[in-house]
Amino acid sequence: MSLDSSIERAIKLVTLRNALEYDGKAKLEAVISKTMASRPDLRSSIKTIIPEVKRVLNQINSLAISEQRVLLQEMSPTTDAKKHAEKISGLPPLYGAEIGNVVTRFPPEPNGYPHIGHAKAAIIDDEYARMYNGKLILRFDDTNPLTEKTEYYDAIKEGIQWLGIKPDLIKNASDDIFLLQDYGKKLVSSRGAYVCRCDQKTIQEYRSKGLECACRLDSNSYDEALTEMFTGSFDPNEATIRFRGDMRSPNTAMRDPTLFRIIEGNHPILGTSVRVYPTYDFAAPVEDSLDGVTHAMRTKEYELRNELYNAVLDRLHLRKPVVSEFSRLEFEGLPVSKRKIKPLIEDKSLTGWDDPRLPTLIALKRRGFLPEAIRKYVLSLGWTLSESKPPFESLEAFNRRIIDDYSVRLFFVREPVELKVANANPVNVCLKNHPSSNLGSRSVQVDDTVYIARADASKLSEGSIIRLMELYNVKITSVELADDKSRIFADVIGTELSHEIQKIQWVAYDDKMPYRIIVPKKLYSNEQFDRDSLEIASGYAESFVSTLQLYSSVQFVRYGFCRLDSDQQAIFTHR
Ligand SMILES: [Zn+2]
Repeated sequence: MSLDSSIERAIKLVTLRNALEYDGKAKLEAVISKTMASRPDLRSSIKTIIPEVKRVLNQINSLAISEQRVLLQEMSPTTDAKKHAEKISGLPPLYGAEIGNVVTRFPPEPNGYPHIGHAKAAIIDDEYARMYNGKLILRFDDTNPLTEKTEYYDAIKEGIQWLGIKPDLIKNASDDIFLLQDYGKKLVSSRGAYVCRCDQKTIQEYRSKGLECACRLDSNSYDEALTEMFTGSFDPNEATIRFRGDMRSPNTAMRDPTLFRIIEGNHPILGTSVRVYPTYDFAAPVEDSLDGVTHAMRTKEYELRNELYNAVLDRLHLRKPVVSEFSRLEFEGLPVSKRKIKPLIEDKSLTGWDDPRLPTLIALKRRGFLPEAIRKYVLSLGWTLSESKPPFESLEAFNRRIIDDYSVRLFFVREPVELKVANANPVNVCLKNHPSSNLGSRSVQVDDTVYIARADASKLSEGSIIRLMELYNVKITSVELADDKSRIFADVIGTELSHEIQKIQWVAYDDKMPYRIIVPKKLYSNEQFDRDSLEIASGYAESFVSTLQLYSSVQFVRYGFCRLDSDQQAIFTHR
């Protein structure tokens, strides 16, 4: 039977809404009863409707959630698609946002590697663009040739890609440098800004005292000096273009802030052809407006600059995006500031931007964090304005939940101590690679000697009983612990499992593989770089580790999750 299109549409809508409520899988009974509730006229023909509901439901359940969302937005753009979109993410609705008409942007400066703070901003921008079926622009805020490098543009692009974010447009503020200069000139010509010839010290002093400098009152500052500024008559620091604000404003950001300065440097894209560069205070609002950005979100430290952002656009008669702030993300003890990180890389205290102690994306990736975990974590924080620094462990929980299912369980013993089991028969044990996931197994030949970790060994004495995991229970007969040669002797006393017996991991004598684990700790303690923030754990791992794919995640039992980093080395991810 073919249904009339209004009935099919009603079934589709009910099914889509239901599917989006239940992780993409609509429930047949619920859909039938809701369809009947919305269309009582169909009750009499329920028998013919049910097969149709089943057909629609199978079709819709086979779509990805993102496709279901788009479909619902297309079918019902005004009402529930929007309501639903706003509900599914941890983020609040955007002020004045309409489905299909939202443009957000992520505007990093390419002056370093992207870190967790960038991830938060980019994920929020991306999430809102998706939520409203809108667009995301990645715009490099590259108007300072002294700090920007091609390497950093690439690193940011890679970081964004790793996070699973696909911007609809990638551009540079520097692409528009002449346009920005033109707007700057226009602003000066219309007396909205002026060329200031004062030195930095004077500017600062006048700013703090709330005084206007002579340049502001001098009519030459608007025409002649402007021409000179762009024809190269001034040296760097000899002149700046300042906004004609209010030197007595309680908001110091309004006290004639700098909009352009002369910088002589080799810009990664423009080379040395340009000398007059806009500041972020000028480039950001103008670019946002010209790029069609509807919602400009930035971190809270810019809050005082919002007044300036709007004033610049007002004075240029440009459209104003909605500006809002969220709190910046930085973990306790893991600073993101380039001022703190760069010197440590330069003096080799850190091995590079991917040093596992850093909160850069490249380091988090190397350490075994997944982009999905970072996204879930960021969204769980929601739109907070609190300035507190969460502990790093709060991110770990999200990652653990994801990698737990597919991380092979293996044994690693740190600072190995030999344990000889006098009455042991050689045995070939089959060890499961995961307690519940289907990750296969491995077999290990054990004769009479295994290694255990020194931390475990040091707790043993004659008469102690322990269980060598998946093997047998032993009773310790003697313990020799010395720096040069340590040995423990024991006897097998059975195989029954008991809660009272401590279970420890081991590595068989003939299966040992020298192994090291890099353990990153907090980079900073008490506001100081901690020189002991990297620990190396050396020992033996099972040789099976060498069969695993490089960069995969494993869980060393009773030690923690690690990511294989090179042949005989892993990086500690978290417990
Ligand atoms: Zn001045």
